[in-house]
Amino acid sequence: MNSPNLWLYSSLSRLQQPKSYKGKIMLVAFVGTHIPLLTLLLYFLISNSFSLEMTIRVLVIALVATLVGTGCTLCALHHLLLPVSLTSRALQSYLREKKLPQLPTQFTDEAGTLMTDTVQTIKKLDVVIQRLTDYDDLTDLPNRDLFRNYCQKTLINLPNDKHLFAVIALNINNFRSINNTLGARIGDLLLKAVAERLVTNGGQNNYVCRLGNDEFAIAISHLTTIEAVTERAETLLKTLLPAFILEGKEIYISASLGIAVSPNDGSHIDSLLQNATTALNQPQRCEPNRYQFYGSEMNAQLQKRLLMENQLRQALERGEFFLHYQPRVKAHTGQVVAVEALLRWHNPILGMVSPAVFIPIAEANGLIGEIGEWALYIACAQNKAWQSAGLPPIRMSVNLSAQQVKQPNLAEQVSQILEKTGLDVAYLELEVTESLMMENVQQALATLQQLHELGIMLALDDFGTGYSSLSYLRHFPIDTLKIDRSFVTDVVTNLDNSAITNAIIALAKSLYLNITAEGVETQEQLEYLQAQGCHEIQGYYFSPPIPAEAIADFLQPPPLPLSDNSQEYNQRSLTHITPTPISQLVHYHSPD
Ligand code: C2E
Ligand code: CA
Ligand code: CA
Repeated sequence: MNSPNLWLYSSLSRLQQPKSYKGKIMLVAFVGTHIPLLTLLLYFLISNSFSLEMTIRVLVIALVATLVGTGCTLCALHHLLLPVSLTSRALQSYLREKKLPQLPTQFTDEAGTLMTDTVQTIKKLDVVIQRLTDYDDLTDLPNRDLFRNYCQKTLINLPNDKHLFAVIALNINNFRSINNTLGARIGDLLLKAVAERLVTNGGQNNYVCRLGNDEFAIAISHLTTIEAVTERAETLLKTLLPAFILEGKEIYISASLGIAVSPNDGSHIDSLLQNATTALNQPQRCEPNRYQFYGSEMNAQLQKRLLMENQLRQALERGEFFLHYQPRVKAHTGQVVAVEALLRWHNPILGMVSPAVFIPIAEANGLIGEIGEWALYIACAQNKAWQSAGLPPIRMSVNLSAQQVKQPNLAEQVSQILEKTGLDVAYLELEVTESLMMENVQQALATLQQLHELGIMLALDDFGTGYSSLSYLRHFPIDTLKIDRSFVTDVVTNLDNSAITNAIIALAKSLYLNITAEGVETQEQLEYLQAQGCHEIQGYYFSPPIPAEAIADFLQPPPLPLSDNSQEYNQRSLTHITPTPISQLVHYHSPD
């Protein structure tokens, strides 16, 4: 301030009024432009050689000229000083609101470069400040704030709740003692090296941050199974196992992980991070190189699901699957015309597991393709075995999962199975659901058409629970509608459900479709559906899903004469093929 060049500026800045710099310059200009007028006035005052009239005239002209000149000067100055006031305003708005300046940058004089340099300097400064506030100095990893922002954005944009988002809190065990014995410098190098390994070897869609000290957090998106989460946790632990060589010293470390998974453990990053940290600090984690899921109940559930996923992988090889068959009967005669093949899984550890539980898991981890193919093969082979045993031929209805319909070679696979088992195509029906067709309409349509061209009947399962779009009913080569059990359950008592059921039946009839009602449990339901003109009935009223041998009894022709009893016995024993024919499956996969 005391710099000699600033004496005028510093004296002016002491003035209370006008406050602004522009105002002060204007004041100086105002005074400056009045100097000629004042000089003239003084001259007239001290010299007596002019008449009063002349004096007044000259002074008035001078005054008018001065006022006009002053006005023009002040106006021009106001505009010329704009670069300074704009720059000052831009700096203030960056300071207050972090808004980057928008100033013209095409001028090259001092005022122009003032604006250009301000813009450039603030932009550079902003990058540096951002780096300082968003990233960790030591490891260059994102810090907690940036991590939170990233995770929250990712969580909001998750395509659906089938996508898991895992947040893993990682702690280096005994970091403090490493720091104390080898020194803070080695400690810092170690943290840097850990950060680098977590980033480069942690797998895809991995976002690593340093929470502070020796704690890191890792967010992983695009996961679909808990098994995948545990695989990633194991990868993280493994990547830290090999020795770190720092300044010639070999250092081995271990880490512990706490895991929280969205949507189960929260849908906001703060709760996920907190739950992951809670899991990390649970007493069970004392063992190094261990990971712990959040919450004991959740943990138990996840462990169970994990166990199920693991067991499911080997279930096919171990022959743990078998099929039960539920008869479908003609509504008016009670004659069995078809059976639906329903998967059953008995696992030595888990016991019987419902298909409603394991099929979604098999769909998520991609096993459903193989399992579905197995089920189709066994069902066809079973139907052929019944026919070969001389039982009246019936249709075999097999459920297809969405994943199977997505397989480009499904039709080929089905026709190979038919060929292999020797089953006539007329005795196979496939059940698909509405949601499956809506996912990828064009592809589903093409696949279903191929199946239809082979001569296979197609049934639309669980009708009424999904989109129930009329247009695809017309376009898809569907032969049968299966009215979902939820409508049939209280069709007699619930007016809404009976209205829906009647509408579905009327619709199916207008499209010349065959109608099956699922889940019929009572005489009243049966009578109601008969009256509505439903074609086929399936449900506990007639029979639950039962083993193949029991179905053979259903299909048995009228008893043979007593003397032929032994033959009947032989026939029955023929009608059931073993439920775990892995040898057949191997044989099927490698045709001779
Ligand atoms: P879904 O295809 O709708 O099969 C009908 C389900 O309803 C079966 O359950 C059957 O046991 C049950 N059910 C039949 N009648 C009645 C009744 O009168 N009352 C009651 N309360 N229930 C009845 P399940 O066997 O537990 O199968 C559940 C689901 O698992 C099936 O529903 C199907 O979506 C799926 N599933 C079963 N086997 C397979 C398969 O081989 N492949 C595929 N992709 N999915 C299968
Ligand atoms: Ca079904
Ligand atoms: Ca169904």
